[in-house]
This record gives sequence, C-alpha cells and structure tokens, in this order.
Amino acid sequence: MNEERQQPFQVSDIFACTCCGFCCHGETTVSLDQQDQERMIAALRMSREEVAERYWRITGSVVQMQVRDGHCIFYHAERGCTVHEGRPWRCRQWPLHPSMLADEDNYRTITASCPGFVQGMEYVDFCRIFRALQAQGDAEKFAA
Ligand code: SF4
Ligand code: SF4
Repeated sequence: MNEERQQPFQVSDIFACTCCGFCCHGETTVSLDQQDQERMIAALRMSREEVAERYWRITGSVVQMQVRDGHCIFYHAERGCTVHEGRPWRCRQWPLHPSMLADEDNYRTITASCPGFVQGMEYVDFCRIFRALQAQGDAEKFAA
C-alpha cells in the first residue's frame, strides 16, 4: 500500500472479525476489573451475587469468566459473544492491541492467531492506519 490516503480510515481497512471464536477459547479468560464487573452486571440485569455464582470464577481478588467446553461461558457457536454489551474491556480491545505498534513481533503473533486481519499488509502500513484509527477514537469501536 503506497498511496497516501486521507483520513478517516475505517477499522475494516485493517481488520474485520470473522466470528471464528478463537479468541474466546482456552482454559482461562481475561480478568474483569471493577468497571467490567459493573458493566456485566448491568448488561445481565442480575444481582452481583447471581452473576458471580453463574458466570464468574473468582480466585482471591481475580475475577474471570467461567469456562465451559474449552471456551468462555458466554461464547455461543452460532451467536458469538452472548454478553456483547457487557463484555470486558480487554475483549473490546482485542485484537487491536496497542502493543502491536511497539513491537512487530507482537503484530506477527496476534495476526497469526486472528484470521480477521487484512492479509498481506506491510507492517508499516498497518501501524499508520492503526495510529490514525486511534487518533480518530475508532480503534475500539468494533465488534469482536
Ligand atoms: S477477533 Fe479474531 S480470533 Fe476473535 S472471533 Fe474475531 S476473527 Fe476470530
Ligand atoms: S466475554 Fe464475549 S468476547 Fe469476551 S471471551 Fe467471553 S464470549 Fe469472548
């Protein structure tokens, strides 16, 4: 990509989620900070106690989501994230993680695990567009 394009860029210039669900799989999940907890409680319209009982795994001060069948308890094969409005900020951020701007190895690692990235893009072009999206405030406004 050599042409100099004027802003605004779209997130889809570098990424479009394929809803493959890979990032919702694993034996642990991201942890929820206090704001995440409140957002999730509000989205689920349940009491804290009920949400904790049904959906969270609490280890000391660390709150994560429970895992079922190798994936986050909120992941559904057809519907994707079933707590989309109440998902944690780390889920909102993924996969456009700022660390990719600091280290090309991070970019390679993350793009290798997520099929939603535009394929064949030069790293320098990716960084230019990602920085522009950050400046526009658009880097986290997408559905993962
Ligand atoms: S963010 Fe990437 S890994 Fe996660 S569901 Fe979308 S395409 Fe798949
Ligand atoms: S909260 Fe949603 S986006 Fe985050 S891991 Fe669970 S299913 Fe995936």
